[in-house]
Order: sequence, then structure tokens, then C-alpha cells
Amino acid sequence: MARDCGFEECQVLKTHGCGQLRAEHAGEQVTLAGWVHRRRDHGGLVFLDLRDSTGLVQVVVHPDAAPAFEAASDVRSEYVVQVQGQVVARRDGTENPEMPTGSIEVAATSIVVLNEADTPPFPVNQETDVVEATRLRYRYLDLRRERMQRNLRLRHQVTQFIRQFMDADGFIEVETPVLGLATPEGARDYLVPSRVHPGAFYALPQSPQQWKQLLMVAGVDKYYQIARCYRDEDLRGDRQPEFTQLDVEMAFVEQEDVLDLAERLYLGLCQEVGGFTYPETFPRLTYAECMERFGTDKPDTRYGLEIHDLSGYVRNSEFQVFAKVVQEGGRVRGFAVPGAADVSRRGLDALTEVARDAGASGLVWVQFAGEGPLDGLAADDIKTPIARFFSPDDLAALGKACGAKRGDLLLIAAGPDALTSRVLDVLRRQVAEERDLADPERLDFLFVTEFPAFEWDEDGERWSAVHHLFTAPFPEDVALLESDPGAVRSNAYDLVCNGQEIASGSIRIHSRETQLAVLRTLGLTLEEAQMKFGHMLEAFRYGAPPHGGIAPGLDRTVALFAGERDIREVIAFPKTKSASDLLTGAPAGVTPEQLAEVHILLDEEARQALAARATGVHGADEDDA
Ligand code: ASP
Repeated sequence: MARDCGFEECQVLKTHGCGQLRAEHAGEQVTLAGWVHRRRDHGGLVFLDLRDSTGLVQVVVHPDAAPAFEAASDVRSEYVVQVQGQVVARRDGTENPEMPTGSIEVAATSIVVLNEADTPPFPVNQETDVVEATRLRYRYLDLRRERMQRNLRLRHQVTQFIRQFMDADGFIEVETPVLGLATPEGARDYLVPSRVHPGAFYALPQSPQQWKQLLMVAGVDKYYQIARCYRDEDLRGDRQPEFTQLDVEMAFVEQEDVLDLAERLYLGLCQEVGGFTYPETFPRLTYAECMERFGTDKPDTRYGLEIHDLSGYVRNSEFQVFAKVVQEGGRVRGFAVPGAADVSRRGLDALTEVARDAGASGLVWVQFAGEGPLDGLAADDIKTPIARFFSPDDLAALGKACGAKRGDLLLIAAGPDALTSRVLDVLRRQVAEERDLADPERLDFLFVTEFPAFEWDEDGERWSAVHHLFTAPFPEDVALLESDPGAVRSNAYDLVCNGQEIASGSIRIHSRETQLAVLRTLGLTLEEAQMKFGHMLEAFRYGAPPHGGIAPGLDRTVALFAGERDIREVIAFPKTKSASDLLTGAPAGVTPEQLAEVHILLDEEARQALAARATGVHGADEDDA
């Protein structure tokens, strides 16, 4: 079958995608090519499910189609085959409504094996659980599986939508360098040694932050980039050494403009992807309000479990633990868990352990038996270790303050706000997980605003920027930069969804003086500021416009819409928790010549570690995925 494509030798390997065939194709001669998903022998007939990127179709091979039948009898799972045949409607009763192609099958006249396949290390045709290290080692097989095909397609759909949306909104995509200057702030940099500048290093960008601000000075009003970012951090489920951001910057904007853009974009994505409920407008909570109600700046608001201040009720109580904390300036806070009055002692002990792990010295719980409002409680209606310090009415008052009813459980922590926030946040998430309170089909987007600009870094004994050092302080707080940095609020904001930070951004400093003042607050001398940020300070002298931006994490966004917990499930070739690529074996040693070219000498530790790695197939961390 030669196709008229300008090349005589060009053969048509396939005329249709397997998953595209429908009843209306019945009677057509088709050529398909793909992988053998499954083979079944049925009373003299051979059935092959043939798979390509468009889906599955059933191929039936009759014994009287002799060479095809022989070939079909020999093929095994994951063989690559070409099938020619006729599309035929399936007989009544043999249709498969589960398959988009289930009303037809292809009666094969010819089957050609294009390539054989070893038995794969795990079944490609089933969504069985496979150890992640094995999935990553054979990622090309893992990606053949339905879930990963779906995730890759969803990722494509999301990025396509973003590009069209940003373009329609007047943004232009600008690429910025991957080889740049090391930044002393933020996470650890990935360094790249320079061959032509002995001893000098580039750093891979942690984000294109400085470039995008320079683009604003350059007169690009609306910039975006789907940008790869690199951070040499210890990794968790939602972190990868390289990850992708939708990086956005706009000139002549205020916070509301940026939030509006992010809201429209994510509402658009919700509609594009479908299948989720979401708020029509995203609530805006200040950082302070968020910490007060949820104990965290990235709350999951799909379930209530809101935190309440109980200090006023216990300040003068006989229970010294509570009274003392309040008198010393701490607070007693708690939340109600609906319908959890029957949680066993063992369950409560486990929750106490969770609280202890988060730093609490203990956890107080109160269980209210029965149904209905918390009125007229008798001592018998209440189970709690603090019963002897409080009357039933006092305990009912605590419960009411948290919105509890009979049948509910109260969890109460005491201490400084930072501690109770941390503990109650962990408990909220634990309880929600155990009781399955979070609706997986809901996307609860919200914005958090008015972050503090600086936090005290105990280890470094200095102030560090909560967002980053280019974030503008509130104009009315600039005066506090020297006297009270902890009280300075910043024009930073986050987009949060279901307990995860999806994006963060800020209005930036565009005045050289304010930038210098912030750098001073962070402990940099004028000389250091010049050395590290001289290019930014200089650019600000040449008419830098007011500007601001945001950077949603693309991997997290796709994971959210894919219903995946781990961003590795939406990245084609992710790395393990120790930043290794199990497929290629990266990172790996290089030749002495390569090292010499970049003027690097390995120390003893590095030499020994490399020697140890050489004894493993792909390094020592296959099992750390
Ligand atoms: N560059 C920032 C980050 O990576 C985001 C921003 O402020 O736009 O977190």
C-alpha cells in the first residue's frame, strides 16, 4: 500500500487509530498497528486486543485466514503488530459497551509482527500495583499503561489551555536562560561548572524570577513562560528537583489584577477539564485569618473542622495546664469532629500521638454522647480526661464554642499560637483522612493574602523573606523595616486548593531604595547587595514600572485535576526521592577528562561514593523511589 506522500518508499503502516473505529466503519478495509494488549484463544478463534495511543480494538482471527491465524497464535503481550482486515459489526449480544470500539471488531486477513517483546517486568494491560522503583526503571512501559497515558494527555490538555488562555489575554511567552547566576536566597542551587571560566559556576534557575522582572523593565507588559525550575532540596511527594511553573509577570498591576487573572485561568481550567465542583469566585482569606481558622496557610477547606479560640473559657479554670498557658500569653484552641463521639480509646491515643509528634505535650479530648444540642448535659453524657476540672455546663460551653453537638468529639491543644496551629493543622488533616471527609470531586480554591514579609530564622539568627526578597512590603509598613521587621506585611499571595499551595506570587519592589532597605533588613551590607543583586538595583534606576506576578506549579495543577496525590504521576520521567533517574542512571560519574575540562577534582568521599555506585546497576538507591 503506497501512499502518495512524495516518497515512493513510504508505506502506510496504519490507516486508523485502534480506538477510533466505530459502527460507521463497518465494511471498511483497515490497516492498524499497535501493541498486543491481550490475546485469547476461543474455540478455534484467536482474539487480539490491539492497543495504540488512541485506545483498544478487538481483532478476531479465523483459522481459515491461514497465515494471519498462525501469526496470531504466536504473538504474545506487547508484541508490535500490523493488522489488515475488515471492520465488522459485532453480533448481537457480543458488543462490549465498556469499550468505545465495543460495537465492532476487525476480522484480520493479515498479521505482520513488526517487533517481538520480552515478557514485561509488570503487566502493561492491567492497573496492578507495581513497586515504584520498577515503574521508574521501566518508565517507557509504565507510560504505556492507561493511567499514565491519561495523565500525559491531561497534562497536554492543561498546558494547551494555558497557552491559549494567556495568548488570548495578551501575554507573550518569552524564554529565559537556564544557565544563570547562583542566588544566595531560597533553596540550594544546582550548579554547572564553567569550562571556559575556570572556577566559575552557573546556577540552574530556581525560578525565572529575576529575568521576568527584568522583562518588565524591558517594556514587556505581560509575560508568561512554561518554565522548568531547579531546586536542590530534600524531596517529598510534592517536590521534584526539576519541576515546571507557569511563570507570569505583569507591569502596571496591583494585587487584585494578578488574583483576577489567576482566578479566571483556574476557573477556565475547571471548565476545560470538567468533572469537579469548584467555587464560582475564589474566597480571599488573609494569612492571619487562615492561621486562626485552620492553623495553616494552605488549608483544605473541603471539610469544616474549623479551629476556635477557647482561651476565654479556661483562663480561670482549675485545670492548671490550660489556665497557665493562657496566663502566660498562649492560647487554648480546638475544633469539633462531627459524629466522632464513639472514637475508641485507642483511636484517641493514636490522635494524641499524632499531636505529640507535631510538638504538643498532650491532647485534650471531650466526647459528647447522644444526639441534639449540647443542653442539659449530665456528667454521664461526657467522656473526657479533664472531667474533674470542669462542670458539664463548662464542657458544653467549650463544645458550643466549637459548634459541636451531642455525638461529636472535641480536640483541644494549648500553647503558643505557632504550636497550637501546627498541632491542630496536623490533627485536622489526620481526622479528615481517617474519616474520609474530603470530597475528591471538589476543588476548593482560595487565595491567601497579607503574608508577613519576614520570619526570624533561628539557625541563621537573622530575618529571612517569607516569599522572596523582591516582594513589596505594604507601603504603610515600610517604615517598620528597620524597627520591627516581624510586623511588616507583604504584598504576597498564594493560590491554595485542597490543602496545597498551587501558586504563589507578589507585587514586587520597583524602587531601588526600597529594595536596598529590604536587603538591609535581611542582613546584607551595601557591598553584598551590590555584588549579588547589582544588576537588579541598576535596572531599577532606568524606569522600572510597578509590576507583580504569580507562578502556579504546573505539576501540582495537573496532579490536582488528575486526582493524583503525587506529582510524579503526572511527570513523564520523574526522579526518585534522592533525585536519581532510575531509567538512565543519572546522576553518574564522568570521565577524568571531562572533570579536568571543567577544572574539578573529586575529594575522597566522592571517589568512594562513585566506586560504591559502580557496583550497583544504577546506583545504590533503586529502592528509594
Ligand atoms: N518566583 C516565585 C516562586 O518561584 C513566584 C513568584 O513570585 O512569581 O515562588
